[in-house]
Amino acid sequence: MAQSAEGRKVLNNYTMLETQTVPQTSTLFDSMSNMDHEQLVFCHDKATGLKAIVGIHNTVLGPAMGGTRMWNYATEEEAVKDVLRLSRGMTFKSAIAGLNIGGGKAVIIGDVRKIKSEALLRRFGKFINSLNGKYWTAEDVNMSTRDMEYVHMETPFVTGIPESIGGSGDPSPVTAYGVYVGMKASAKKAYGSESLKGKKVLVQGVGHVGSYLIDHLIEEGAEVLINDMCEDKIAAVTAKHKVKVVDSVYDQEMDIYAPCALGATLNDDTIPQLSCDIVAGAANNQLDNEDVHGEMLKDRGILYAPDFLINSGGIINVFYEMTGNYNRDKVYEQTEEIFNICMNVISHAEEKNVTTHSAALKIALNRIEAIGKVKLGC
Ligand code: NAD
Repeated sequence: MAQSAEGRKVLNNYTMLETQTVPQTSTLFDSMSNMDHEQLVFCHDKATGLKAIVGIHNTVLGPAMGGTRMWNYATEEEAVKDVLRLSRGMTFKSAIAGLNIGGGKAVIIGDVRKIKSEALLRRFGKFINSLNGKYWTAEDVNMSTRDMEYVHMETPFVTGIPESIGGSGDPSPVTAYGVYVGMKASAKKAYGSESLKGKKVLVQGVGHVGSYLIDHLIEEGAEVLINDMCEDKIAAVTAKHKVKVVDSVYDQEMDIYAPCALGATLNDDTIPQLSCDIVAGAANNQLDNEDVHGEMLKDRGILYAPDFLINSGGIINVFYEMTGNYNRDKVYEQTEEIFNICMNVISHAEEKNVTTHSAALKIALNRIEAIGKVKLGC
């Protein structure tokens, strides 16, 4: 069937998507255009101190979905940059995981200890509700299932709410499981065996996901090193497991580096210091510049497990909650598929001599393009 003008427009946009990086541009619309966002929505509420931004990147596969991050951004530009990058990442994450949802994300600007309150979270819930289901939220950094419960009081468009009120609870254990199987797939490629027994794995950031990941690693017999800026988080892990606490990260002798804190830790400064074989972790947007730093890792012979693929367990979990048909076995079954998808990405990357990040993007884009055509009937 001939392709419609609308279809051509959408597909041209996909082609653009593939080559975009975080823009160094000056205007909001330039940034949205460069990264191909559909919407950027701002909310301000003087009474509660709420300053929130929702980024809706792409809704071809379904409503945009992605967590809410609360962070004390130094500037508003930093918050905008974060929400643009994170929401774009969600599009690819859901697409490669085989989910029928698009990419979105929310950020709340401010110091959690100073301004997070029931009123602020409920006001945020009203904001989410005003988007009428085009964007569904969930928890992310500095947000808990309890916080989501407050958000849920004002809107049904929220997932990751406590099990006690009909939700699926904290998605972090599922995310951690996906990271673990993605790490095993990478080990199979790098070492010829998926076993992590005896491998030195450095987990940077031992919060929700990092700590569950450590449970799997210890159970499998890996040698675990940990690093975190928060003493309490370190204490919680050392009380449970025999791990080595390290003050520095990138110059450590290790087999596998697992970034589970914040993004952009793979950059010009850190990559030359790394002596590991594999990078596989939960953090979003680990590559500071996805064009440059994916190549740098490849050139150094370090196998990079694409973040948006191996941390997709959390979105798989909340997707099933969103459908109203939550089934934990099914969630884990689909999360386990990350192993095969990861092997497929690595093969594609080898075949085409591209980075694993590019190969994963291509697979995600191919799915959006194919389903977009089906939806447009072209
Ligand atoms: P979290 O806030 O529970 O844990 C993050 C940990 O990193 C904290 O312990 C914090 O103290 C530590 N940290 C922050 N900056 C650090 C630094 N510079 N050096 C060392 N440690 C530092 O968050 P989380 O839910 O575990 O998520 C971790 C990462 O995984 C985030 O990037 C998040 O976006 C991503 N992620 C999480 C999920 C999920 O299900 N929670 C899903 C997908 C992706």
